[in-house]
Amino acid sequence: MFVPGLIERKRDGGSLTAGEWRGLLAAFHAGQVPEYQISALLMACFFHGLTREELPGLLDGMMGQGGRLDFAGLGRPVVDKHSTGGVGDKVSLILAPLVAACDVAVPMMSGRGLGHTGGTLDKLESIPGFDTQLTLEATLAQVRRIGCAMIGQTPDIAPVDKRLYALRDVTATVECIPLIAASIMSKKLSEGLDGLVLDVKMGSGAFITDPAKSRELAETMITLGTDRGCPTVALLTAMDRPLGRACGNALEVEECINALKGQGPEDLMVVTMAEGVEMLMLAGRKDRAAARKELDAALTDGRAARKFQEIIEAQGGNPAVVDDPAILPTAQVVDVFKAPRSGTVLEVAPRPIGRCIVQMGGGRRTVDDVVDPTVGLVITARPGQKVSRGEPLASIYARDEAGLALAFRTLTEAVRIGDGVASPLPLIAERLTATGAETLA
Ligand code: URA
Repeated sequence: MFVPGLIERKRDGGSLTAGEWRGLLAAFHAGQVPEYQISALLMACFFHGLTREELPGLLDGMMGQGGRLDFAGLGRPVVDKHSTGGVGDKVSLILAPLVAACDVAVPMMSGRGLGHTGGTLDKLESIPGFDTQLTLEATLAQVRRIGCAMIGQTPDIAPVDKRLYALRDVTATVECIPLIAASIMSKKLSEGLDGLVLDVKMGSGAFITDPAKSRELAETMITLGTDRGCPTVALLTAMDRPLGRACGNALEVEECINALKGQGPEDLMVVTMAEGVEMLMLAGRKDRAAARKELDAALTDGRAARKFQEIIEAQGGNPAVVDDPAILPTAQVVDVFKAPRSGTVLEVAPRPIGRCIVQMGGGRRTVDDVVDPTVGLVITARPGQKVSRGEPLASIYARDEAGLALAFRTLTEAVRIGDGVASPLPLIAERLTATGAETLA
């Protein structure tokens, strides 16, 4: 294989065959192709994209010689969801135990915070003792035993994606739809799923801000999933404001525990239940209204909260946190942000809020940063809400006075109050499947 020739073809707008992608990434995995050549190729992909014909080879290459979960003989369907991430997006923590409580297996593999967005693993790790780094064998055993595991990418899942992602991260080549789609699906398709629900975020706080590109990403992932025998459904949901109220790791876990007891904020529950219905339908339920009732019952009779307790216990965490969220670590300094003027909340901008939490210590600026689980914001202000001067709009949880001051400055800018009319994106705009799109807004 003459790698410079492949780079040159891609650089000039051509494409590689699926076989070339497979061969190239296998050679990279084997240490026979240096990172600088792969980096150059990634940049060419960034500028020219990939054709539909190239994607299967890229996907196979990313999955490399990786391991897979095999649920043969489990006796119940296996379904997962993936979110492209946002601020306050804690849906996975509610959905995994809720759907597992309805006798559907959920081997949920998630990531850490990325840029301004939070990550499910960081949130779970704010529960004292919770271990997200299970082996594939331990994950299989736990899913067989209690129907759910909530883990991080193991070294043997999509190992080439792991290396490629690290390269993309430092070569400014992350934001490329075919690369993102293949990267996400390489991990999800290693989970041995019968179905996958994608929550693709749109709006200023999303990883990809342009709604048309969010749709393209969703469609690309649906094609990859469906072609590999994993029926895949996507919902396009709003990330032009935080989801729910809590933003920050331990604060979000507390909001999830309340949600599992039927006391979640409305927007969070609308998205969670919509995704839950999709997961149950992929698991073989025949009727959407009945699926919704099944989810409601698991929340109200306490099965979902108990399932979360079981998962926490199985993964080394303190299950008493579900009965007593005060066990979660708490911040040193707490204060209240009040409306600086009367008017209508025009915007609650998620991106500066996410960045602020990272700077307060709640996320990573470098890979070695240790996340402080206690810091964050609980924002009650919603776009469209009428507020009076001096009305409390958010609580700030910081580790020191500097964090507090930063949060006040951020909220003053991010919570925009004026005399106009708010125009938030629809909470759930579209439902996409392999056969087409349905507008829900
Ligand atoms: N998340 C992933 O797993 N891969 C990407 O490329 C982007 C986000």
